[in-house]
Amino acid sequence: MSAITRRDALGLIGGGAAAWATTALGIGDGLHAQPAGFPNGAIVRTLLKDVPPSALTGPTLFHEHLSIRYPLTRALAEQQGRPVPASFTDDVDVMVEETKAAGKDSISCIVDGGHPDMDRDLAALKRIAAESGVHIVASGGYYMHRNYPPEIATKSADQIVDDLVRDAASQRLGAFGEIGQQGGVMTDDERKVFTAIAKAQARSGLPIFTHNPYTGLRKVDPPIPMDAALRQLDVLEAGGAQPQHMAIGHVCCLDDTTAEIPKRLAKRGVFVGFDRVTIPIVPDAQKVTTILAFLEAGYVDQLLLSSDFANGRALKKNGGPGIAQTVTAFGPMLVKAGVSEATLKHILVDNSRRFLAVVPKTA
Ligand SMILES: [Zn+2]
Ligand SMILES: [Zn+2]
Repeated sequence: MSAITRRDALGLIGGGAAAWATTALGIGDGLHAQPAGFPNGAIVRTLLKDVPPSALTGPTLFHEHLSIRYPLTRALAEQQGRPVPASFTDDVDVMVEETKAAGKDSISCIVDGGHPDMDRDLAALKRIAAESGVHIVASGGYYMHRNYPPEIATKSADQIVDDLVRDAASQRLGAFGEIGQQGGVMTDDERKVFTAIAKAQARSGLPIFTHNPYTGLRKVDPPIPMDAALRQLDVLEAGGAQPQHMAIGHVCCLDDTTAEIPKRLAKRGVFVGFDRVTIPIVPDAQKVTTILAFLEAGYVDQLLLSSDFANGRALKKNGGPGIAQTVTAFGPMLVKAGVSEATLKHILVDNSRRFLAVVPKTA
């Protein structure tokens, strides 16, 4: 097995004009390239229609929020008897304009990571998709223990599976996410929900993306174990979910410059989500260092990037970088650090559509 130089690893696909094309990677030993192409009948299930993955020629952002009220804010307001504060996504006209701008910034598709327990409004997402021209994938599931509707406590995992699969089919949901745990160790109900999500994946074929509670450089008591993401994957695997349809999320919020945890995840065949780029839980410069270590280990096919857009200050109308910030603000940092444009496009375009592409199964 030949050694791979840093340069080879970061510029794997070669530069140049064919950068956005889907091609097999002619790369060396030790790299874990996936074959090019998609299985027969594979589609990406967007809210408005099923599209062939090859139609997503620009980047897909696999974890953002276009319709959300942050659940903790709601819970606090309700506890104190105050009205639930407005969210920046309440103004759908603004979100249409901002999403249109993301389209101009080359974005083909955005996955919204909300569901009913985050006040995600499907009608708003449909309007944003129709009027912006950017494909929107909506998701199903539950966020974390403190947001669960009361019936989760009494339902069995199998009953939850039935609900998830039925709702996904009737509402044209294209993924299950973000599925989270609030602390470093799952509660019993979180374990039940993760098991249900895994079974719903196996039954429907739809991909899963998760939320991890990593706090980066900030110390918390008790600390979040480094291996929380691996334990999350244990539960999903035990529930029968397929690794190639899973993205373990918020791994970029780990203080882990040698990419130890991302590499251990990728070795098990899942996508690794660096999906809080531009959020300074870990500084972006450090995220770049971790990504380089991950790419050098040969896992270019398993990296997903997104920004978990959930802050009105980042809207263009407020002088921020906008919803496409993963591509327009973070991407250039990777290129400056030595990642080739072609590799970056492979990550942003090919990986994310491969993650979303499914051959739908009837329930
Ligand atoms: Zn999250
Ligand atoms: Zn999120």
